[in-house]
Amino acid sequence: MLKADLHTHTADDPVDDIPYTTFELIDRAAALGYEALAVTLHEKQLDIRPFAAHAAERGIVLVPGIERTIEGRHVVLLNFSDGAEQVDTFADLARLKRRRRGLVVAPHAYFPARSCLRGDLERHADLFDVVERNAMYTRAVDFNRRAERWAARHGKPVVGNGDVHRLMQLGTTYSLIDAEKDPDAICDAIAKGHVIVESRPLSTVEAARVASALSSSPEMASSAQGKAAAAMARRRSSMALASSATRETRAAAIATPVSAMLRSKAWKRAASLTSSANRRLRCCMARSK
Ligand SMILES: [Zn+2]
Ligand SMILES: [Zn+2]
Repeated sequence: MLKADLHTHTADDPVDDIPYTTFELIDRAAALGYEALAVTLHEKQLDIRPFAAHAAERGIVLVPGIERTIEGRHVVLLNFSDGAEQVDTFADLARLKRRRRGLVVAPHAYFPARSCLRGDLERHADLFDVVERNAMYTRAVDFNRRAERWAARHGKPVVGNGDVHRLMQLGTTYSLIDAEKDPDAICDAIAKGHVIVESRPLSTVEAARVASALSSSPEMASSAQGKAAAAMARRRSSMALASSATRETRAAAIATPVSAMLRSKAWKRAASLTSSANRRLRCCMARSK
């Protein structure tokens, strides 16, 4: 079984401000035992040839990929030989699928941001091969559940992805794929459902740290993950962190930078950006009960 993350961003990304290179992502993934990675930059399919040997030396195969914005919604396109960068509409995507072999993934489909598919997943259900469980969730706040119910209803497989924008996000949610170490074999295996999602929720402290790291760049604070992270972290008050800190020395060591972060300007900015996400979250949680 190949340990894989098929949704990651690096400093080559033309849209997001990412503080590590593709080489650094590969090194970190290798240290965590990954064997397959897709670097899915926004709007641009990374030429993986300069990185393939570096990855192979560390036991990793790179799967070509891109996170394309289609009619305003994020869609991850894996292993298309060409044409993925030219897809602007769902009609274009349908044409690409007829012409070329590749895998269409619905990332963070029901997260509280404008870039998420939501109703378009249902409207264009036939175009999607796979649904993502995104690493950005806690036990209390999990926007993935609705996507997984959708996948179950439509008989589509689910993959676990980090949607990595900071290296700390790698390793909590990933896929185990029953395939040879080859992009075609990996995508075929996923399409056939030969994939297991390994996933654990972020702790509140982890969510707060990710939220803080993402909110350091304004475009990330307003992204699907940034909004979700800050929504999750804000859901538990800083009092909860403080009380756990009194119980455990280790927690206290973690809580100190977190409480400093909660007082920071960057955090308050992220919090104000996510207040509307929080309202939507409450109403979507109420609906899903
Ligand atoms: Zn996205
Ligand atoms: Zn992404």
